[in-house]
Amino acid sequence: MYDRESHYIGGRWVRAAKSDRLVVHNPADEAVLGHVPAGTPDEAALAVAAAVRAFDDWASRSVAERSEVIRRFTACLKGRAALLAKTITEEVGSPASFSARVQVGLPLLTFDSQPTHASEIVWHQRVGHSMVLREAAGVVVAITPWNYPLHQIAAKIAPALMVGCTVILKPSELAPFNAYLLAEAADEAELPDGVLNVVFGTGAGVGSSLVAHPDVDVVSFTGSNETGRIVSELASRSVKQVHLELGGKSPNVVLDDADLEQCVAEGVARSMVNSGQTCTSLSRLLVPKRLLSQAEEIAASAVANHPLVDPSAEVEGIRPTVYSDKLAHLPTTFALGPLVSANQRERVVDFIRRGVHDGARLVAGGPQRPSGFDQGYYVLPTIFSNTTPDMSIVREEIFGPVLCLQAYDGSDDSAVTMANETPYGLAAAVRSKDPERALAVARRIRAGQVEINQARFNPFAPFGGFKQSGHGRELGTWGLEAFLQTKSIQLPPS
Ligand code: ADP
Repeated sequence: MYDRESHYIGGRWVRAAKSDRLVVHNPADEAVLGHVPAGTPDEAALAVAAAVRAFDDWASRSVAERSEVIRRFTACLKGRAALLAKTITEEVGSPASFSARVQVGLPLLTFDSQPTHASEIVWHQRVGHSMVLREAAGVVVAITPWNYPLHQIAAKIAPALMVGCTVILKPSELAPFNAYLLAEAADEAELPDGVLNVVFGTGAGVGSSLVAHPDVDVVSFTGSNETGRIVSELASRSVKQVHLELGGKSPNVVLDDADLEQCVAEGVARSMVNSGQTCTSLSRLLVPKRLLSQAEEIAASAVANHPLVDPSAEVEGIRPTVYSDKLAHLPTTFALGPLVSANQRERVVDFIRRGVHDGARLVAGGPQRPSGFDQGYYVLPTIFSNTTPDMSIVREEIFGPVLCLQAYDGSDDSAVTMANETPYGLAAAVRSKDPERALAVARRIRAGQVEINQARFNPFAPFGGFKQSGHGRELGTWGLEAFLQTKSIQLPPS
């Protein structure tokens, strides 16, 4: 049982004023995992004041000095890597090997790589009689979700700290304990007081107080579109910079020359990563109409590659390590844990029921409780065919293990039209034996990241959305740019 009673503000553990606590459940067995404080507007204001006080000193330090602090912080995180992975498995439900390799491995890489990225930024340059400077944008509020909790925290706070911003983090109330460990690591690494503050609580409570606070310069948000719109509106009242990383309904386009067997099996796998609770989940598999029934058969048998498991069961022998591109290749066989919460399960099951009601055909799975899993927020990996573009399962982000097969008439033009037939634009994939042809299609898809064939996630490439998937870019040097201001100083004639 994790019982946490404090926020981390101004370099100290500040006992929460209010007796209200938020309960966190383990999604695999529905047991109470622990509690965190429900932060108040006063506590939010305290954290902002601490970040404001710390800003001048932190921002004026050299890149080398800040790099040293980030390295210490990273080392303290690495020292907690196994505990972080165990904690994320317990609060999110992702299987232990996935927690070790991705949930913890990826943020460690993000922290590790900051000094290198900082060395690639042009911090000052002369443009005629002007000196152009890149400076820290100010006080940053980072609001993060639960699906890749530490990764999303790292993608925001590591570059923000690196460039000299001070930060208030409000982690998801569904998965707050990894953030608590992160605050402990910051404390052990002796980050200067107030440079990183962590406040726990609900979005509507402490989250919106932080977003609305007039002394905050930047709000970096990852989460649902619905909340993103609220956060954006609230932040715009005081003209803050806002970065939004929102949802997706990403197409995986199989062109007519592709190896169907391989592409459909991979396509099923790519829709099931983290039980489908992935914003870049390739949740629409587009196949030529004439190949649809073959694709259905392949998909139906590929579901067997994704058995449901107790997420903490497969711990042995896998230790968290810094993520590397070598590990980036996604296997086509991996197990699925439960969804994060009872609400999330209900939402996903409701989508599945609506899909059936709207006339889509179940190729695999369904809304019923998986046998052998009487407890826990498990959902069967589910595949629909006979879908039409107007169905909610095709239009809306489900955020669960649900894949929709969509049939296009066979031409690349119709594949592109169907791929772009969504208000989202986060991710996409194109599969073809002809890389040139795949590239031509990839260029026409309106999405922030498009992969071709077996190309996998690149943790140093810019990450972010087109259209209603948000704006702003994270990771790599782009991740640092997001927290920089640009100043020009016009120099007098000499
Ligand atoms: P999810 O985590 O399911 O994607 P949300 O988009 O609701 O769902 O949550 C993402 C993050 O946004 C969480 O940390 C949550 O507490 C926070 N949040 C929710 N509502 C608000 C709000 N009105 N203002 C600020 N933050 C919010």
